[in-house]
Amino acid sequence: MSGSDPLSVLKERFGYQAFRLNQEKAIESVLAGKDTFVLMPTGGGKSLCYQIPALLFEGLTVVVSPLIALMKDQVDALRLNGIEAAFLNSTLEPEEQEEVLSRLRQNRLKLLYAAPERLLAQEASFLYFLKSLPVSLFAVDEAHCISHWGHDFRPEYLKLSSLKAHFPSVPVVALTATADAMTRQDIVEKLGLRSPQVFVSSFNRQNIHYTVEPKRKSYERLVDYLRAHREDSGIIYALTRRSVEDLAADLETDGFLAKPYHAGLEKSARDHHQELFIKDKIKIITATIAFGMGIDKSNVRYVIHIDLPKNIESYYQETGRAGRDGLKSEALLFYSRGDIFKLRRLVEIDGNARQTEIMMRKLGQMAQFCEAKSCRRKFLLNYFGEAAPDDCEACDACLTTYEKVDGTSTAFTVLSAVSELQGRYGINFVVDFLRGSKSEKMKERHERMKSYGAGSKTTQGEWKRVIYDLLEMGYLKREGTEYPVLTLTEPSQEILEGKKTVYFRKAAAHRREVKTSLPYEEELLAKLKALRLALAQEANVPAYVVFSDATLVELAAYLPQEAEDLRGISGFGEVKLKRYGEVFLNAVVSFCKERGLKSRMDSKVGLRKALARKERRRRGEKKAKGDAQFESRK
Ligand code: ADP
Ligand code: ZN
Repeated sequence: MSGSDPLSVLKERFGYQAFRLNQEKAIESVLAGKDTFVLMPTGGGKSLCYQIPALLFEGLTVVVSPLIALMKDQVDALRLNGIEAAFLNSTLEPEEQEEVLSRLRQNRLKLLYAAPERLLAQEASFLYFLKSLPVSLFAVDEAHCISHWGHDFRPEYLKLSSLKAHFPSVPVVALTATADAMTRQDIVEKLGLRSPQVFVSSFNRQNIHYTVEPKRKSYERLVDYLRAHREDSGIIYALTRRSVEDLAADLETDGFLAKPYHAGLEKSARDHHQELFIKDKIKIITATIAFGMGIDKSNVRYVIHIDLPKNIESYYQETGRAGRDGLKSEALLFYSRGDIFKLRRLVEIDGNARQTEIMMRKLGQMAQFCEAKSCRRKFLLNYFGEAAPDDCEACDACLTTYEKVDGTSTAFTVLSAVSELQGRYGINFVVDFLRGSKSEKMKERHERMKSYGAGSKTTQGEWKRVIYDLLEMGYLKREGTEYPVLTLTEPSQEILEGKKTVYFRKAAAHRREVKTSLPYEEELLAKLKALRLALAQEANVPAYVVFSDATLVELAAYLPQEAEDLRGISGFGEVKLKRYGEVFLNAVVSFCKERGLKSRMDSKVGLRKALARKERRRRGEKKAKGDAQFESRK
């Protein structure tokens, strides 16, 4: 049934219309038998970079993955698309293992998922077994786990360095969503990749909308948000185990289905809560950073941080768990400066001053991200060394209009104070000084200075905001890590000399959202979701393995009326079309009849052409197949 080029496989087996990011190039490189290194953000579609070659190669593709919990989902998802796949890990019963081995011997598998420890167990005897099979490709997922420099080093990954020695002529594709330059180099060396082709995609997660709000009355605000998003799944990250548990309990009292997840819980409770979340039996999980690795749930619609993350890397990774299905999702962070002080104690690494300094600097950058009034996305991308436009139109900063307020004299006051204090004090001290604090220490040493008490009528909070704005605009900088002090910069001289006007930006109003998602029938979507859940439970897989939200949204938006139309809906490959086409189509058709709605397939861009092409190809193949036939489900 499958065509023999990557694009036909994408369409027929997976039901997708086009490749994303570097998928196509990476697939070509793998197919050419070259070692390949794929860096793509979470949700970018790394899996297809080895799954499609696996289907096109003669032999077996072995996928190494550290996440035992994920293997089953991935294998289930492949099987639903009619692809022969299996996994080997410690969760299998001996007879199940034997079954997999026997299918391997009979060359009946295209993909085998294995944990690295399984692959290399018992002096690599399993590797010797693999040598007796036609292995076409090794895929090493989460490849950063092999590096000490990465944030998730796993010693068992180191054993993978022997792969190349055992299989010198089998290409290896390494994949990861997080790797800085140092980690990247390390991965290439440890895996022994031979002049690999490297594909780096943008880290921009276009469908994630970033917002930072002040942490005031945050629980009320949170509840408001959750009420408005009752139908959606989301993760709420908090700093401590205690707050994670309290929050889940409070939310349950307020009528939400929420469960906690942190490393202090019994493993059975942890697994149970995760399972409830993945299978959509609860909508909300409250969690410490312990949660998330190994979560492949594609319909997480929001990630909320009620406490400040320790660094941008963590923030990016945690927010990245939203919107893997490509639909609009939200990252919301509640920020208070108090959190910085709480975290300073936590990021300190005993007896390692250098490491502590790095962690402090990272924390400072996290705070800077929250304080910034300019585009959040740009900040993130620049942080990862990527250029970005000034305005993304999908973050709070870009969606707020600001009034320009002349603040030259305010700036002058602050800068004069910093100058008089000779850049020897931190923010809090400078504010107290400006406000003319009556503390003994202050009076004794600084009372006679010109700027002392120059701003006694302005509140502490307002002065801090002014100082943060000046920091952001580059008129002040902070130096030192443990007790950072405020110092002047070159541009600040121009203000002190009266040569320059300073404008502050004051939020005037929130612009309405510019980007709208696909307009769809909400009630129909709810029905389709219920249908999907029932089918998923029947097959004992998570709902998103049956179809992603993106597929259901397309159904509810384009209202297909005929079996043939379903070919144009993203996510309907040949096998799913047969298996699930009829039930979903019936749901859509009867909904439309009730409401007197017509198909909107015409508005699907590029669809006609794609269908025509498919049609031509099919006619060219076999005539007798008939139109998209449905198979009755067992
Ligand atoms: P990653 O491993 O990079 O986090 P996945 O491989 O899990 O991402 O893919 C994320 C989601 O995007 C999956 O639901 C996948 O089926 C879907 N996807 C991948 N490639 C495409 C594509 N070309 N078109 C549409 N959906 C895609
Ligand atoms: Zn923006």
